[in-house]
Amino acid sequence: MEKNKVPKRLVGKVAIVTASTQGIGFGIAERLGLEGASVVVSSRKQNNVDEAVGKLKAKGIDAFGIVCHVSNAQHRKNLVEKTIQKYRKIDIIVCNAAANPSTDPILSSKEDVLDKLWEINVKSSILLLQDTAPHLEKGSSVIFITSIAGYQPAGALAMYGVTKTALLGLTKALAAEMGPDTRVNAIAPGFVPTHFASFITGSPEVRKGLEEKTLLNRLGTTEDMAAAAAFLASDDASYITGETLIVAGGMSSRL
Ligand code: NAP
Repeated sequence: MEKNKVPKRLVGKVAIVTASTQGIGFGIAERLGLEGASVVVSSRKQNNVDEAVGKLKAKGIDAFGIVCHVSNAQHRKNLVEKTIQKYRKIDIIVCNAAANPSTDPILSSKEDVLDKLWEINVKSSILLLQDTAPHLEKGSSVIFITSIAGYQPAGALAMYGVTKTALLGLTKALAAEMGPDTRVNAIAPGFVPTHFASFITGSPEVRKGLEEKTLLNRLGTTEDMAAAAAFLASDDASYITGETLIVAGGMSSRL
């Protein structure tokens, strides 16, 4: 969407987006910022954080960057504390970080791989929300980034997909626990050609096959995911909680 056509639904809001220096996380940070939010971007590497903050500021966005490896307890605490020191509150938190360290079948997956998948994809989001919850404003919004693989965990994405299935349950459970002041929703992207997905979307034949599996004959974009996140974070979604929005061009068998 052209910058001057983006609605301004998030003026005065403060948003934390994890793993937001490239790909879907960066796209979400950019869109929330263009809609008026102050955005706190983070990832593991300082140079990536600096570069992302520079790009957002160049678009007129109020952006602030902090290094945060989501599985590092001190990094998570620092992310929340520095955000509160600077902005005094948190309205939106997008839990976007994930890892897919192995494509092994589940029964051949090493224990350290299973631990890493649980730790990065599920546990670190819970622990970050434990740190964040005391600071969340009335009317705040939590968004998890799950995946269509959460609905059909299979093949090279099987165990990763199971961790994304866990996020579907976490969305329901935390919506009940954090309501009525905080809404908790999730986005399940289809295939988006980012660095993370390049082991799949990097092959022209595979990519074509995936495009044909959608009803819109294309893969998703980071902007598609960002638009869904901005909607869920905004008052336009004020009566929506505990839901997962599939953003996959129709590539899903869910009724
Ligand atoms: P991406 O383009 O590869 O970006 C990954 C981002 O995460 C980078 O900014 C990276 O920066 C950061 N990062 C990686 N590990 C981190 C960690 N442990 N702690 C903090 N930051 C970390 O990935 P993406 O495709 O946008 O994926 C984002 C989310 O979308 C994930 O939850 C993924 O499961 C989900 N998803 C993606 C697709 C898809 O097709 N792309 C489909 C469904 C769901 P640093 O290297 O500086 O840390």
